[in-house]
Amino acid sequence: MELSRKAENINPSITLEITAKAKELKNSGVDVVSFGAGEPDFNTPQNIINAAIKAMEEGKTKYTPAGGIIELKETICDKFKTDNNLFYKPNQITISTGAKQCLANVFMAILNPGDEVLIPIPYWVSYPELVKLADGTPVFVKTSKENNYKYTLEELESVVTDKTKAIILNSPNNPTGTIYHEEELRIIADFAKKHDILIISDEIYEKLIYDGEKHISIASLNEDAYDRTIVINGVSKTYAMTGWRLGYVAASEKLTKLMTSIQSHMTSNVNTVTQYATIEALTGPKENLEKMINEFESRRNFMLDKLSKVNEVSIIKPNGAFYVMVNIEKYLNTTFKEEKINNSLDFARVLLEEEKVAVIPGSGFGLDNYIRLSYATSIEIIEKGIDRLSIFLSKIK
Ligand code: PMP
Ligand code: GLU
Repeated sequence: MELSRKAENINPSITLEITAKAKELKNSGVDVVSFGAGEPDFNTPQNIINAAIKAMEEGKTKYTPAGGIIELKETICDKFKTDNNLFYKPNQITISTGAKQCLANVFMAILNPGDEVLIPIPYWVSYPELVKLADGTPVFVKTSKENNYKYTLEELESVVTDKTKAIILNSPNNPTGTIYHEEELRIIADFAKKHDILIISDEIYEKLIYDGEKHISIASLNEDAYDRTIVINGVSKTYAMTGWRLGYVAASEKLTKLMTSIQSHMTSNVNTVTQYATIEALTGPKENLEKMINEFESRRNFMLDKLSKVNEVSIIKPNGAFYVMVNIEKYLNTTFKEEKINNSLDFARVLLEEEKVAVIPGSGFGLDNYIRLSYATSIEIIEKGIDRLSIFLSKIK
């Protein structure tokens, strides 16, 4: 029997797949180094865990309104005001099961069949698949190494059509770790205004920024940018809460109504306990967050230093998130113990088989000459993993 053609046309999430494979190998006793996971290795801070326990004990274990509890929406509005100089009312906020569901809701609420969404290469794996699931067409924008793989106006103007509905912006970026500065954001905002398109701004790595850089939300630039931007954020990365599953989106009241209505049929509310725990995450003490950011910065510096000593690889220097893209093109179209290494997927597979190092192939992000390493892991593991990578490279012919 033929199943859904749309579903058959979707690639599984390679980031989740490789992370699960590395965990499985580790559980079976293999000494695997995983650079796969896009998640902090720290546990959720205790004050957040305590808030969840308290909520359960107080009986906050029932359904809530589909789009989330009002107390959390108000807390999120305060967060936007304080952190981003953005003013929203609770009826402009939808709380969903991770930033991933926020994105799915957005695409379902804005796209009609054939509508195009601009996505930069490299991109986070789920953007194109979520656009396709919502009957939209992903339009990839080729960006250049010289510009750190960030959009330029010329690149955008060359792909925009009268079917373009939205542009995705992800700063700090997964997988490159680069950050858009104010002048670059202004160019994108002006471009969106000129072509009357929506801006989907995924700001999930907002707090994971180094080198004294600053995060600016494109929505805060001017009134027009505010009106056409849909801001996505969440607690997975910032508060080490990947498994709790909570993301939130700020948009117009009209779009919020549509997204809430979609979600009311798909999943209803985010689990109630997580919503209460998130109020504590956003309003409670921030020492753990500061410690985590400092730790990520040291790990990034350590990883970059180690990689600079590895032969014939270059990197994209990250200022945010917790990933390093490593250029492996010199090692493509080679062999390792009779195994052909023709692309980043072959490279990642053979590296895992032979040296037990898990990385994400760049093909998952549309850049086949790279692999992505996550430094959300300890210094000891980074050291061991890069040493193994280096040995592997020295054996490739
Ligand atoms: N956006 C980006 C850029 C991501 O890397 C991720 C990965 N977790 C998400 C959104 C989704 O995050 P979550 O669903 O865990 O909130
Ligand atoms: N976003 C993270 C990553 O890129 C987590 C996995 C996922 O949700 O794709 O690795």
